Amino acid sequence: MSIRVKLLLLGVGMVVVAMLAMGVFMANKQERLYKQEMENKAQVLLEGFSAVCVSAMASDEFEKLDRLVEELHFRLEETADLESVMILNHRREVVGHTNKEMYGRHIDDPFVKEACESAGATIRYVQGESSRTMVVAMPLDTRIGDLPGIHWGTVIASFDLSRADAEVAGLLTNNLVAVLAFAIITALLFSLAMQRSLIRPILQLTAAALQLKEGDLSARSNVVGSGELSQLSSTLDGMAAGLQRYTGQLHELVAQRTQGLNQANEELREAMRKVEEANERLEELATTDALTRLRNRRHLQEMLEWHFPLAQRSRRDLAFIMIDVDHFKNYNDTHGHPAGDTVLVKFAELLKGRVRRTDVACRYGGEEFAVMLPDTGPLDAKRLGEEIRRIVEESVFPNEETQPGGRLTVSVGVGCASSDMVDPGQLVEKADRALYRAKNDGRNRTVLLS
Ligand code: GH3
Ligand code: MG
Ligand code: MG
Repeated sequence: MSIRVKLLLLGVGMVVVAMLAMGVFMANKQERLYKQEMENKAQVLLEGFSAVCVSAMASDEFEKLDRLVEELHFRLEETADLESVMILNHRREVVGHTNKEMYGRHIDDPFVKEACESAGATIRYVQGESSRTMVVAMPLDTRIGDLPGIHWGTVIASFDLSRADAEVAGLLTNNLVAVLAFAIITALLFSLAMQRSLIRPILQLTAAALQLKEGDLSARSNVVGSGELSQLSSTLDGMAAGLQRYTGQLHELVAQRTQGLNQANEELREAMRKVEEANERLEELATTDALTRLRNRRHLQEMLEWHFPLAQRSRRDLAFIMIDVDHFKNYNDTHGHPAGDTVLVKFAELLKGRVRRTDVACRYGGEEFAVMLPDTGPLDAKRLGEEIRRIVEESVFPNEETQPGGRLTVSVGVGCASSDMVDPGQLVEKADRALYRAKNDGRNRTVLLS
């Protein structure tokens, strides 16, 4: 059950109970007043009547008493609901009565006895089957104030209370209805006041607290006023504002740190890239021949270490060519080392232009060059070696006419990997042997060792 319903039920319940209690109290009071008024009226009436009766009794005019009783009954039957009137002498004998049959009877009723002995009015109420009766007794005497007088008898009148009771009941009902209506209106006003001063602020506080719990730090309860709830609201709002400020600062700090970290990362990446580049450059330098820009023997060795077992395992061809410049010592001796270097560079260019991208051409050392040919069989390898030899023979080198035969030439040895080989050195050695054979056979030729 929500606090709104609880407070409303409590408030309305309290108001209704209080109003009903007040209504019942007022109804009782009203009933008492009504009763008092009736009793007073009856007493005043009987006092007046007793004065007339006393004078009739004093002068022994008992017939007059009858007439008086009849007259009184006739006069008051309708207006005051007078039921009966009875006059008793000092011996409690009926000397006048609205019921003629009662004449002369001696009344021994305790109430009558008490009334006849009383110096003032005596009243009692008798509950009948369907209605109540008020019995009022008044002494007939000649007493004046506190001065004693002769006690002549007693007059006793009975009043039917049906009409009066009905009137009181009606009044009470009206009262009750009025009190209920008042209670409802008061309860409504009370609930309105509660809504404004208690429920709405509590709901505002609850909503703001829930929003804050969900992480919305911009939530505020904004309860206005000067009571405890508005104090609670401003405290909560202040805390939320502080939290929002603090979180904002934290976010800013995190953003700054993140930016710094990103920058540092970027710098680190850049440094790593440069290191990688430098490494690549170093690797290239370490595996490149400075003069010809061809790969060096070290690189070739690495390639052989990689390709040889691969070719053996997958039973694929692998060929190796060794090339050596013929009579190069003669060239150097004739034209000098720098001229010899130029020849080596030109030869390297020719070689690069001829081999495939997948072939590995390198300067093996001095005026010796080598090419590793993956996936190449003996015939194709020999054809390539021969073509290189021919290109060199047909190319023009500076001052080549001083060479034996008038041309600068190369000798080529070709070897191919066979299934009995177990290490790449055997392949190199085979090509080397082929080259040796080419030199021995007269140079400027290509030899394939099968
Ligand atoms: P062959 O036909 O038997 O190979 O005779 P060759 O003279 O070429 O062989 P040899 O081994 O006698 O001489 C090789 C020469 O190559 C000697 C050396 O001066 C020269 N040479 C080696 N490396 C270089 C180099 O980097 N630059 C120059 N200019 N000459 C070099
Ligand atoms: Mg040589
Ligand atoms: Mg040579």
